[in-house]
This record gives sequence, structure tokens and C-alpha cells, in this order.
Amino acid sequence: MSITLKTPDEIAIMREAGRIVARAHQAMREALRPGISTAELDKIAETVIRDHGATPAFLGQQKPDSPPFPATITASINDELVHGIPSPKRILKEGDIIGLDTGCFYKGYVGDSAYSYAVGEVSPAVQRLLNVCERALYVGIEASVLPNTVRDVSVAIQRYIESQGYSLAREYTGHGVGRAMWEEPQVPNWWPRRANRQGWTNVALKAGMTYAIEPMVIAGRNKLLELSDGWTVVTEDGSLCAHFEHTIAITETLPQILTLP
Ligand code: MG
Ligand code: MG
Repeated sequence: MSITLKTPDEIAIMREAGRIVARAHQAMREALRPGISTAELDKIAETVIRDHGATPAFLGQQKPDSPPFPATITASINDELVHGIPSPKRILKEGDIIGLDTGCFYKGYVGDSAYSYAVGEVSPAVQRLLNVCERALYVGIEASVLPNTVRDVSVAIQRYIESQGYSLAREYTGHGVGRAMWEEPQVPNWWPRRANRQGWTNVALKAGMTYAIEPMVIAGRNKLLELSDGWTVVTEDGSLCAHFEHTIAITETLPQILTLP
């Protein structure tokens, strides 16, 4: 598959899709408190997305050997890194951290964005994990300028996260976004010596590229497990982790974040 560059008109539609995603995140952020269930947060996001005439992008997503994803958001608590399935039984408590990821289709285009939050009070060490992950996202966005390559973006994210004493999830990458939620190129959060073994190719950034950057930062070891629900990914050592994501567009000058309110 090749990289599709988007026209300004297409990017304008993607910004609308992104704004709807941002509003869904705003509504969830306002509702976030100890005692709320992840199913309630899911309902809030779904309502915002559908009220804007958009369609949840995660709902019904397929992957090999797993049931279709059953919700609008992924809600990943504490040692869950990504892809947690919302449930009325998953009630947030004071001191939890939660990663919320959601996306929508609007007029044929996708917006995709994630945030991690503290629920009530957390220790300074836990807050630092969240701050470093959010900052890593902006490090990746700042590196998304011409004439850089995808590798430059990946290396910038990796160096920053590792310089802060954390590890990063190696298996999951950012990705091109457009008419589909996963397009070329893959935008990893690190860059191995033999990237082609991972199926990653380094490409030069070009104006009109649109992709999601999504660093995943882990307080402990970066060994991951998938739970038997076929979706939820957790850290093997039970350590806390965080995830932030924006969809951006590359321009001749500064990158534009498309998933803002
Ligand atoms: Mg996402
Ligand atoms: Mg994504």
C-alpha cells in the first residue's frame, strides 16, 4: 500500500472529524470521576459522535482471532496499555489512571485521538508518567516537519521517553489516517536497527501526509500481554502505563493538529 497525500479540502474534512473526536474527549473528561464506569464513558463519547452526524470508528473493528470490538472507546485502566473494553463492571476509583482512545468517521474521513488521565488524586510519580507521555506526543509532533523522515519522528519520541527513565511499547505504532483508520505509513515510537524486519519503511515526510502519533509510555518493563478477551493489552509486570494520541497533517511549515476542539 502506498501513502496517500491529502488535498487541503480533504484535510479540512479531517479537521471536522478530529473536532468531533475532541468534543467526545471533552465530554468524557468532564464526566471523569471516581465511581463512573467505563461503559458510561463509552456512552458519552458515542452520543457526542452520533449527535454530530459521525460514526464511531472503533465499533466493530476486526482483528484476527478476536471478536469484533464492541464499543466506541477503548478504556484502559492502570496496567492496561491499550484496547480495554468498556464495561458497566469497570468502575473507576480514586487514584486510578485511565487511557481513553476514540475515533470517528465523518464524511468518509477519520479522526483518532487518545488521552490518559488521573482519576482524582495520584502521586507525583504517577502524574510524571502521564506528563512524560503527553510531552512525548508533542516531541513527535514537533519532529513532524520537512525535510524530516518518519524515522526522525520515531527517534525523537524514543530518545525523549528513554531519557526520562521510562520504557515504551514497541509493538504498537502510530499510523497514517485518512479514509481508513490505518493507512501507510506506520509511525513507530522507536526505530530499531533492522526496521524492515518489523515491516517498517523509512519515508520522507511530505506536505499532505496525515498520520496519528501515539506514544505509549510504561513505568516498568515493556513486556506486554493480551488478555483472553482478545483485545485488552496489559503490562506483564503490572506496571502503570499511559497513552496519548493526536492526528496531524504535515504542511510545508508547521504540522497541524487535526484532533483539537
Ligand atoms: Mg487511537
Ligand atoms: Mg491510532
